[in-house]
Amino acid sequence: MSNLLGAAEIRELAALLDLKPTKKLGQNFVVDANTCRKIVKLADVSKSDVALEIGPGLGSLTLALLEASKAVIAIEIDQRLANQLPATVAKHGFAAENLQVINQDAMQVSNLPTLNPLPTVLVANLPYNVSVPVLLNLLEHFPSIKCGVVMVQSEVAERLVAKANNKEYGSPTVKSNWWADLTWAGPVSRSVFWPVPNVDSALVRFDRHPPLGSEELRIKTFKVIDHAFAKRRKMMRSAISELFGGSAPAEQALISAGIDPTIRGEALTVQQFSQIAQQIS
Ligand code: SAM
Repeated sequence: MSNLLGAAEIRELAALLDLKPTKKLGQNFVVDANTCRKIVKLADVSKSDVALEIGPGLGSLTLALLEASKAVIAIEIDQRLANQLPATVAKHGFAAENLQVINQDAMQVSNLPTLNPLPTVLVANLPYNVSVPVLLNLLEHFPSIKCGVVMVQSEVAERLVAKANNKEYGSPTVKSNWWADLTWAGPVSRSVFWPVPNVDSALVRFDRHPPLGSEELRIKTFKVIDHAFAKRRKMMRSAISELFGGSAPAEQALISAGIDPTIRGEALTVQQFSQIAQQIS
């Protein structure tokens, strides 16, 4: 018998907590143990890993992570869910000391209590309305995370894995490429959730690569990216003119960076954005 959560127990837990899942917090819970095991497998979680999970909810994925990893750190914004999780874990026979629950907003978390081992892998069914900022925040602040798998809304997954010169390609793609390579890891059926969401979901895997430069360069690069995609139909010399004090200096900066000034931002890789950022004094 599976020692993971199933649909009946999820409903029992929700009734016990008098939980009415909210859209605001993206509360759609996975009720299918096979889906949870598949996600954990796609992330290559092993017994030497400390997994970071965002939004453990009622614990579906948390239990699958405890099964496969050394320990789990779970960050949950909803206090009732955060308080219930240790009891659910204990009931399913997992060691309580292998789980640490942090009742916080994942957008605000930039470090973890010092005594903890650092997380090595991120596995999360992300709250959809904040999935991109949460992912970027974690990539920025937790360099110990080497890889991971996140579940997001399908459209967001398409954007995250898009390549240059594609209409899906934009700021989330380029910014996450500063830290990692992202790949499509498959769709997830609506039927595995309670309540059933009114959007499609998909999995994205990421693998961290060596940093492309200093933190100072990253901040400048992200400014160039923001300007380029705020005016995505414009040529780069015009899109970033404000940043360089006019379109003539912007054109000069692009030429010095080896970039065609008439190109659009959607054609540039993160490496090219960083070459432009290096021209900012
Ligand atoms: N992991 C569970 C599962 O797969 O069944 C629940 C996933 S549900 C899509 C998203 C979870 O994220 C909810 O438990 C919600 O309360 C939590 N959440 C929403 N916004 C959050 C935030 N900013 N920080 C941390 N957790 C958040």
